[in-house]
Amino acid sequence: MEKIILIGNGDVGSSYSFALVAQGIGNEIGIIDLDKAKAAGDIQDLNHGLAYVGPKTLYVADYEDCRDADLVVITAGAAQLPHETRLDLTKKNAQIMKKIVKSVIASGFQGIFLIASNPVDVLTHYVKKITGFPSHKVIGSGTSLDSARLRNAIGEQLTIDPRDIQIYVLGEHGDTQFPVWSHGNIGGLSVHEWLEKHPNFSEQDLGLIAEKVKNAAYDIIAAKGSTHYGIAISLARITRSILKDEHAVLPVSVHLEGQYQATDVCISSPAIANSQGIREIIEMPLNESEQQQMYDSIQPPPPPPPPPPPHTPHPPPPPPPPPPPPP
Ligand code: NAD
Repeated sequence: MEKIILIGNGDVGSSYSFALVAQGIGNEIGIIDLDKAKAAGDIQDLNHGLAYVGPKTLYVADYEDCRDADLVVITAGAAQLPHETRLDLTKKNAQIMKKIVKSVIASGFQGIFLIASNPVDVLTHYVKKITGFPSHKVIGSGTSLDSARLRNAIGEQLTIDPRDIQIYVLGEHGDTQFPVWSHGNIGGLSVHEWLEKHPNFSEQDLGLIAEKVKNAAYDIIAAKGSTHYGIAISLARITRSILKDEHAVLPVSVHLEGQYQATDVCISSPAIANSQGIREIIEMPLNESEQQQMYDSIQPPPPPPPPPPPHTPHPPPPPPPPPPPPP
């Protein structure tokens, strides 16, 4: 049947449903959002393209519609503001996520969750915990977007089709993400071999590109308020592999159970995605520096600093002097 329920029809959600329609993915797409009128308007608009791509059933959904869905995709929640990190969104989006997921579960849903709301690794783990679903059925979009950004940036610099560049960005979808250069492949060559043969392209260039990729969201948010097309196409890619049972290897946020020496945390690793969800996590043998970066990425973020003490107009009196020692 290929039924998808999308929850969250903002910039990311509406771009995702457009990507599904334009690429002919899924037969039935139900959209849930607090703003039902906008969802209905988007559906009407999307329907007007079907004559050129083929039929599809699109509708404003309710939570009961999740019951027999193959996939529930969650893009609801507050988006990052300029100068906000993804981790800053944790509290408000966890509350939204809890409400949504409880309603999905109440419908009897047994399919696969795909989470994009940020901080995506923290929320993917949260959904796994509150649903009690097996790990293979809860997937976060993770660094699928960051990896696509990296491949594109290198492709632009070398004038190569980004599909012929295979380098994963792993770890947190956030400020501690890192590219796995040691297993990268540019047109059939390892990154090291490529650099040896092309002295006009250096390790320093790669470092600059990785930094730009890490900060891409901040740049786009400053320019136009949100990032949504890239993530929408990344979500569509994951969706296709699941619904079409493609067994594609994609860098996504998965629940680690011993891989990378970590347990009970969601973080991005290459993984095989098929109709069952995650068929297998491919643990990459990282070099020492990459292993350290993965370790740093997995560590929980430091707690926020304690609030400053309340202002006291007069300092408290000093403690009384200790009694004199006994003679
Ligand atoms: P947005 O503000 O445009 O849209 C959010 C939507 O969620 C709104 O339509 C809102 O009505 C809806 N919503 C909020 N609470 C809801 C609820 N309880 N039930 C149903 N719908 C609800 O935001 P956006 O730009 O679309 O971003 C959405 C999320 O995706 C953010 O958390 C953002 O950080 C994240 N994001 C993730 C990635 C990634 O790579 N994973 C990339 C870009 C954005």
